[in-house]
Amino acid sequence: MSIRSKDSYQKLLYNFMHEVLVVCPSCSGQALVKSNADPLRELDETVTRVVCINCGYGKRLIDTRPALLMKTSRKPVYGRMLRIGGSGDPYFWLPLWLKADCLRQTLWAFNYEHLKLIKEHVGADLRQRSLTNIRNKSIGSRLPKWMTAANNRKAVLKAIEILEKK
Ligand SMILES: [Zn+2]
Repeated sequence: MSIRSKDSYQKLLYNFMHEVLVVCPSCSGQALVKSNADPLRELDETVTRVVCINCGYGKRLIDTRPALLMKTSRKPVYGRMLRIGGSGDPYFWLPLWLKADCLRQTLWAFNYEHLKLIKEHVGADLRQRSLTNIRNKSIGSRLPKWMTAANNRKAVLKAIEILEKK
């Protein structure tokens, strides 16, 4: 599977795609999707799996049906497709555990580390932002605009706090 994206936020998301918290398809509790996700390597379908410690549910990506990628007049093409940003996990497309409605948008994070990064950036005031290091600056410029807009700060932080307690 090759991964191409010009969206810089999507590139940042690769840092958090090794462990993604999802809603367990069996018990609706918190389950974990683990993967070797790396834009430079092939996705390993035997390594990529969903596991639930609440009910024992477990499935490898290789044991799921590939998606229909293209239906031509000759032969349908099946394969794997990463879906990033649809508030589901990129591999199994299970609903994310950390997901909240906010300002008619969906605030979502792959895991608590990802959520923390969003919070740190949205929560920093303008003076702090100018003092943060280059890495943080680049992250901020990659976050969706509605998250970082000054007017939305309060609402976004409130949604993050709800997710932190989840
Ligand atoms: Zn479960």
